[in-house]
Amino acid sequence: MNQFMERAVKLAEENVREGQIPFGAVLVKDGEIVTEAAAGEQENPDVTGHAEINAIRKAQKQLQTSDLSDYTIYTSGEPCSMCMTAIYAADIETVYFYNGLEQMTEVGMGEGEKIYEELSKPNEERSITIKHFSDQTDQTDPMQLWYDKQS
Ligand SMILES: [Zn+2]
Repeated sequence: MNQFMERAVKLAEENVREGQIPFGAVLVKDGEIVTEAAAGEQENPDVTGHAEINAIRKAQKQLQTSDLSDYTIYTSGEPCSMCMTAIYAADIETVYFYNGLEQMTEVGMGEGEKIYEELSKPNEERSITIKHFSDQTDQTDPMQLWYDKQS
């Protein structure tokens, strides 16, 4: 196996041995591991504490940039939609995963696959209420304010 994927899978294995969930990720640039993380490294409960997010946070803090273009992420599990959003936002160019969403679902960790399905539905058909609050008010629209400040 590729050395970086091997490391991501090892982090996931160690996480399970420590009573955590089976996820690890490494961020690589120019053939070197820049950061690595497992899921659930936070002191407090945190639903965003996925291995990929943790590795991205560490890199952005360490490098003081949100731009991770030219980086590759190796992750022990196919990224969920939250992690994919972070990967897109950071401009990470390549993602390699070990366990796919189907394999996670087979062992009872089907949330990632379920949420991808949810997001593919129109808002009205989702299990969470999501509505556009379109009432006009006399408040400043922060989006318009931001736009005006750009020009
Ligand atoms: Zn995730």
